[in-house]
Amino acid sequence: MNDTSLTIELKKGKEQSILRKHPWIFSGAIQQYNPDLTNGCWVKIVSADSQTLGFGHYQKGSITVRMLTFGDSIPDKNFYIQKVQAALDLRQGASIISLKTNSWRLIHGEGDGLPGLIVDVYNDAAIIQAHSHGMHQDRHAIAKAILGVFGKKIHTIYYKSQGTLDHADNEYLHGNTAVPQTILEHGHKFLVDWEAGQKTGFFLDQRESRKLVGELAKGRTVLNTFCYTGGFSVYALHGKAKLVHSVDASDKAIVMAKLNIELNGFSTEENPCFVADTFEFLKNKAGIYDLIILDPPAFAKHKDARHQAMKGYQRLNAEAMRAIKPSGIIFTFSCSQVVDKQLFYDTVVSSAIQAGRNIKVLQLLGQPADHPVSIYHPEGEYLKGLVLYVE
Ligand code: SAH
Repeated sequence: MNDTSLTIELKKGKEQSILRKHPWIFSGAIQQYNPDLTNGCWVKIVSADSQTLGFGHYQKGSITVRMLTFGDSIPDKNFYIQKVQAALDLRQGASIISLKTNSWRLIHGEGDGLPGLIVDVYNDAAIIQAHSHGMHQDRHAIAKAILGVFGKKIHTIYYKSQGTLDHADNEYLHGNTAVPQTILEHGHKFLVDWEAGQKTGFFLDQRESRKLVGELAKGRTVLNTFCYTGGFSVYALHGKAKLVHSVDASDKAIVMAKLNIELNGFSTEENPCFVADTFEFLKNKAGIYDLIILDPPAFAKHKDARHQAMKGYQRLNAEAMRAIKPSGIIFTFSCSQVVDKQLFYDTVVSSAIQAGRNIKVLQLLGQPADHPVSIYHPEGEYLKGLVLYVE
């Protein structure tokens, strides 16, 4: 499948992180490039003393190689089949997949040993998203591997990388199921439109936190901000919330949120959805809600944006803390990779001080088992959340 004859030689001592199975090689670690390397090709990595360290995808840029194998054995044509099978085994072993949950992440980049690749499964459709040129070039082999492992269970494979890579077109690589499709998550129904929706269509990473909202929502007046297609709202309603308000800046998202609330048998007249900016919406809303969900998009995608992002998180959380009724609960999240758990926690503490409320941390939240983190690649942990009790 792959030409594995091209090589990159590392500087002396730079093999250490690869021997510890960290999957990224930065440009500064490289001693010598083979001149025939092209963006996205497979490359063999050798140490300064000629030891083969593994194989990966080459890409011009700061992260120059994303490792796909470690050690000296040459990856063969079954490489992607083995990876997809291992990823499926992990999800089955972790009890992610069930009759009530037919949609889950199959491949989570480095967490599944495939840096640069995301695959989400929505019932019988698989959506492939490449974040590297290597994965873009290998998209057909990946689609073939998915079909090889799943057989007829997968009817559709959609490749969606226009938003993540330059020069990549969105296209069906297999089948063509019409969108939107109805999926099941913990028995709740959601419409997913992988063509027009954000990311691959649905935020599967909030599955377990949404379930927890459902468990705590009974009798509460709920505000779901950054609601996208209404995930948390539907769980809150199934959990017998008194009332749910849903807010998102995107009118397309709000159209879908309304459809999803109705699809689950609830009224959008009684539980209205608003196209609005959350920061604006929260103004003058003191004393109305006793459960607020804050699930904003990544405020910082790069380290340079981190300081500004922290200010955003601080303001958002302080506004919600001021607004919430006594004995209320706030679910607050950050999906910014460059903001770690401790930094997020500290920011929420400073929001609490600013709001002047007495607050207790009930639970720490993170990403579910179908978004695994390689222990050698802590950067893979991106989603963190807190459940707060505001006295
Ligand atoms: N909680 C959702 C996922 C949220 S994704 C779920 O469970 O599916 C983040 C959402 O924030 C996106 O839908 C985006 O349209 C919305 N958004 C971004 N900036 C916003 C703002 N300032 N106010 C309200 N919504 C915003």
